[in-house]
Amino acid sequence: MEVVVNQQDKRSWVEIDLEQIIRNYEIYKSKLPEGTDVMLVTKADAYGHGDVRVALKLQELGVHMFAVSNIDEAVSLREAGVDGEILILGYTSPLHAKILYEQDLTQAIASEEYASALVRRNLPIKCQFAIDTGMNRIGIDGDNPEECSIIVHRYSKRLKINGIFTHLCVADTDEDENVEFTLGQMRKFKAVASLVKDMNLPYVHCCNSAAGLTYLPKYFDEFEHIGRIVRLGIMLYGLKPDYSNILPEGIHPALTWKTCITCVKKLHKGESVGYGRTFVADHEMYLATIPTGYADGYDRHLSNCGHVIIHGKSAPIVGRICMDQLMADVTDIPEAAMGDVVILLGKSGDVEYNADDMAQQLGTIGYEVLCNISKRVQRFYI
Ligand SMILES: *Cc1c(COP(=O)(O)O)cnc(C)c1O
Repeated sequence: MEVVVNQQDKRSWVEIDLEQIIRNYEIYKSKLPEGTDVMLVTKADAYGHGDVRVALKLQELGVHMFAVSNIDEAVSLREAGVDGEILILGYTSPLHAKILYEQDLTQAIASEEYASALVRRNLPIKCQFAIDTGMNRIGIDGDNPEECSIIVHRYSKRLKINGIFTHLCVADTDEDENVEFTLGQMRKFKAVASLVKDMNLPYVHCCNSAAGLTYLPKYFDEFEHIGRIVRLGIMLYGLKPDYSNILPEGIHPALTWKTCITCVKKLHKGESVGYGRTFVADHEMYLATIPTGYADGYDRHLSNCGHVIIHGKSAPIVGRICMDQLMADVTDIPEAAMGDVVILLGKSGDVEYNADDMAQQLGTIGYEVLCNISKRVQRFYI
């Protein structure tokens, strides 16, 4: 069933194609070695796609593990009816121990100090130890697997330890140095996993989207027992971990960001546009004013260099992006008129400009572009 979004009454909105998310999930999963399970990463509102909607849809397909960044995200999934494993990857104050326990959430443990603080709350909270294998962000020291094993065993007497995990920091590019580093991380993690094998931990995982596709199939024999669960984030949403990656056939962005034309005006030669008068017309031109700005999450660095899509054609942004509006050159799109749909991220005809393309222009990653689309941009599901 297709839900038609009425485009007449909107200002700036996002359309999320849940069927595309499902296709991405199924295609991704089909590339994994048999027996590999997926933990869905829905942190940051599912990278801007709406965590509850995405999680519930995938739960219908049998997904039973979710990863979020904080306790608020975790509780909101739980309250919406997500009943599987919910792992909080980021920091939760030990003062919230009771909520962790009552909502049956699983907390990542960043350090021994944190584990001790949780133990003092005196509740059998479900936890997974982060193992630091080289990213130097969170985790106990994976350079010393025996010590890791002692710590994990020791805390399992007071907390309900149900897993260990590590995070790979250069699994998304194929330079020799990065491959070497990633394999090194995986070997360290495997060493820890081997030493805690007696605990029969159900959740032992190290792969993100990129590693699940590139490392698991290739090195599965060596890493089988640490590779049974992949934490799938960005590729579920149809974007690339790194711009150089080639996504499997059929995986596409699920999000389209649309807005409309407020008005079209004629600009005479010599007139300027916007704050700071950074653009001056050197010939007569037509401008479309568009009701989306940096408060909607449209990055101001795209002033005078980004573009939008109108009637399947590219329209360059001119002048500085304002808080709530921006202006684009529609001199070559004479049919542009008030109320017409403008695509900020997405595809129209043969022209595509997605979050990865915008990120490339901004010197960032698609993840950040997606997360920055602000809450006042309404989400619609098609
Ligand atoms: C965000 C995150 C992921 C997902 O990474 P993607 O590159 O989006 O697949 C996996 N694991 C951890 C610990 C993360 O923080």
